[in-house]
Amino acid sequence: MAEEGATIDIDGSIMEGGGQILRICTALGCLLGLRVRIMKIRAGRSTPGLRPQHLSGLQTVRDLCCGQLEKAEIGSTEINFAPGRIKGGTLTADTKTAGSVCLLLQVSLPCVLFAESPSELIFKGGTNAEMAPQIDYTTMVFKPAAERFGFKLDCDIRRRGYYPRGGGEILVRVSPIKYLKPINLTDKGTITKIYGRAFVAGVLPYKMVKDMISAAVRCIRRELRELYVNIQGVQEPADKAVGNCNGIIIIAETSTGCIFAGSALGKKGVAADRVGAEAAEILLRNLRHGGCVDEYLQDQLIIFMALADGVSQIKTGPLTLHTQTAIHFTEQLTKAKFTVTKCDEPNTDSYI
Ligand code: ATP
Repeated sequence: MAEEGATIDIDGSIMEGGGQILRICTALGCLLGLRVRIMKIRAGRSTPGLRPQHLSGLQTVRDLCCGQLEKAEIGSTEINFAPGRIKGGTLTADTKTAGSVCLLLQVSLPCVLFAESPSELIFKGGTNAEMAPQIDYTTMVFKPAAERFGFKLDCDIRRRGYYPRGGGEILVRVSPIKYLKPINLTDKGTITKIYGRAFVAGVLPYKMVKDMISAAVRCIRRELRELYVNIQGVQEPADKAVGNCNGIIIIAETSTGCIFAGSALGKKGVAADRVGAEAAEILLRNLRHGGCVDEYLQDQLIIFMALADGVSQIKTGPLTLHTQTAIHFTEQLTKAKFTVTKCDEPNTDSYI
């Protein structure tokens, strides 16, 4: 645990070595009043340093707390961040690319939860982007899990935006809270519902939606015969979506309220049925273990566990490198201590 006012040096190249380290360390720096110097930013990535998406995330945290950010420009491999007070209010941030609005939310949410007044955040960029949660994941999987910590996350999707232009927009409203409640997610229960959303936007034909859905349903039925799979098909209206894209998210809910997802986005040269099958395979992979969260939710909950007043417990599947990285940096900056215990069950589950 670092002292308030101290400067903490962060090596951004270790473990996962990606943008997540920037988000966790600046959000915690902002909340705990710590100056943070992050070096070797994304050193192991093919384009090291800050990309537009990471830069706008850092600028968002700076603006949320009227802090100071030095050396932050595209390509920078080192930044200095000094936080101020988190006042709340209205803030707009724009990745100006298809950079994910969900990752802007990821870095901002812990900060605005402890602001002096309610916050209204307008985030512009990609709503359904690769290597990030799709906005539907954020609203259907992350939100209900995060709200277990005792706050309300209100997220309105005003317009969707896709690669390469972005142009999407979400409006997030959060009221500050006094403290976060610890959570316990250790009882998976049984699967009660499978549902989802498959979409096309722009010039892409609606047939792609049908192909994604039928491939996904076929794939899920092979393993979970008894459950009805209800995936809604959507042709995004032209005034509510920027760009051409197809994608799908499939959700499984359990009797104890655990929520898992598999999602995928179309890419050039990849048939729509492959996209549907890919999402289904990800979901099934995450349902085979005895954990209560999928492979993406794990790392996204770590910062809230560290900030909660009391001990949280989560049963996971195999721990991801993202989660191990989140734990490492959260422990470096806060008083929180995480214990990872391997379960006796044969499928390598862990308790955090
Ligand atoms: P970099 O480009 O350096 O990898 P980044 O900031 O773009 O940096 P990561 O550091 O890899 O990305 O963090 C990605 C975040 O998005 C993680 O929290 C991860 O759990 C989440 N994420 C990635 N893919 C998905 C997905 N398919 N569904 C839900 N969440 C996802």
